[in-house]
Amino acid sequence: MSEQTRRSTSNEDIESTYDEYMMPIWKSLDVPIKRAKGCYVEDYDGNEYLDVFSGISVTNAGHGNRAMVDAAHEQLDRFIHGCSYLHPSEPVADLAEKLAEVTPGDLKKSFFCNSGTEAVEGAVKLARKYTGSKEIVALEMGFHGRTLGSLALTGNKSYKSEMAPTINDVAHAAPPYAYRCQMCDGGPCSNACADDVQRVIDTHTADDLAAVVVEPLMGEAGLVVPPEGWLERVQEIAHERDALLIVDEVQSGYGRTGEMWGVDHYDIVPDIMPQAKGIANGLPLGAFTATEEIADAFESGDHLSTFGGNPVACAAANATIDALQDGLVDNAREQSGWLDGELAALESEYDVVGEARGLGLMRGLELVDPDGDTGPMGVSPEPAPKYAKKVSEHLRDEHIIIGVGGFHKNVMRLQPPLSIERAQLEETIEALRGALDEISA
Ligand code: PLP
Repeated sequence: MSEQTRRSTSNEDIESTYDEYMMPIWKSLDVPIKRAKGCYVEDYDGNEYLDVFSGISVTNAGHGNRAMVDAAHEQLDRFIHGCSYLHPSEPVADLAEKLAEVTPGDLKKSFFCNSGTEAVEGAVKLARKYTGSKEIVALEMGFHGRTLGSLALTGNKSYKSEMAPTINDVAHAAPPYAYRCQMCDGGPCSNACADDVQRVIDTHTADDLAAVVVEPLMGEAGLVVPPEGWLERVQEIAHERDALLIVDEVQSGYGRTGEMWGVDHYDIVPDIMPQAKGIANGLPLGAFTATEEIADAFESGDHLSTFGGNPVACAAANATIDALQDGLVDNAREQSGWLDGELAALESEYDVVGEARGLGLMRGLELVDPDGDTGPMGVSPEPAPKYAKKVSEHLRDEHIIIGVGGFHKNVMRLQPPLSIERAQLEETIEALRGALDEISA
């Protein structure tokens, strides 16, 4: 394409070309991206936006992080592909060693793939190989990806309609969703949702359990933070049945929660830990890491990915992890304290904010209709996806990109680059107030 043509490209040109030539699954935030740097993206019409969603929680080290881009460039000049399982190379070896250092406890050996869903499915294969068992228990409302294996684990019918896999060795337990708790009858939290994992194992499995698969903080469910002690109890239940605990850190990993990993907020070490999203700050890469004993259950030829562990992506990941450890996770933790207070204030000031929750820079505001019907299971106000849409449009008009998600599609998602500064968060909160005032008027 000539420079001349490129200069004349507009947002409308890009979107209409998508409409004509892309399969109709793309969701528009109405912000095509021409270039991006730090916490800002620019569209084809020359507008600049503050990005509080990081391309679904991916560019944790900031768009175009200099060290990460330089590392990728240097590797691009060296060589791009050789299949990392056929031709070992330095960036891949370095990343495997680094992951052994930065992952919790005695997690040591990694497999590299290209995405989160692949990392989750690989982890399940490894759990099956190690335990010799087949069945999996996952959570209702959990999300683990869109390919058929991960879709079987995903506990949300909106991702499955008409395409659900016919894999029946997965059962689902209650999510640790305190705001719409299905377990404790409105009383104080008794962690009954953790014990539900045991009930589901007892009723839906046939003594052939390979793993329990959970997220430490449920991202797509709506930034749902489990109660204290929940993950520890879930691991205990899995281990009592000689099954493994797979903790899916695809979204919560790489500093997102103000710690390197979501599990760092708990007192456990997972048996296998899938990762992706933030790992290479935007270059496609996934991984799962296990203890040596579990990892060594894989034999030569048991698993492979042609592009997995691409050396350019691994070089970018090495630089990304350095940048995260070099202050970005600390910044996430620092900003998170302030943000927590501001979001809690929105919850107490606005009836339409049902709950503010999250950890680090993985924050959600669940919007409800205080005048609507009782919510699902009769436990809380009716979810208000209509308000979430309005808030996102209001913010977009103020040149701020925010996510919308949650099981009921009513949760505003704040998952900015971890380099975000206080002034940028203040701008976001001010815009949120404007949007909530408009809805509440
Ligand atoms: N697991 C979790 C917890 C996720 O949040 C996601 C994506 O949002 C996935 C897995 C799937 O990742 P990917 O889209 O890279 O396949």
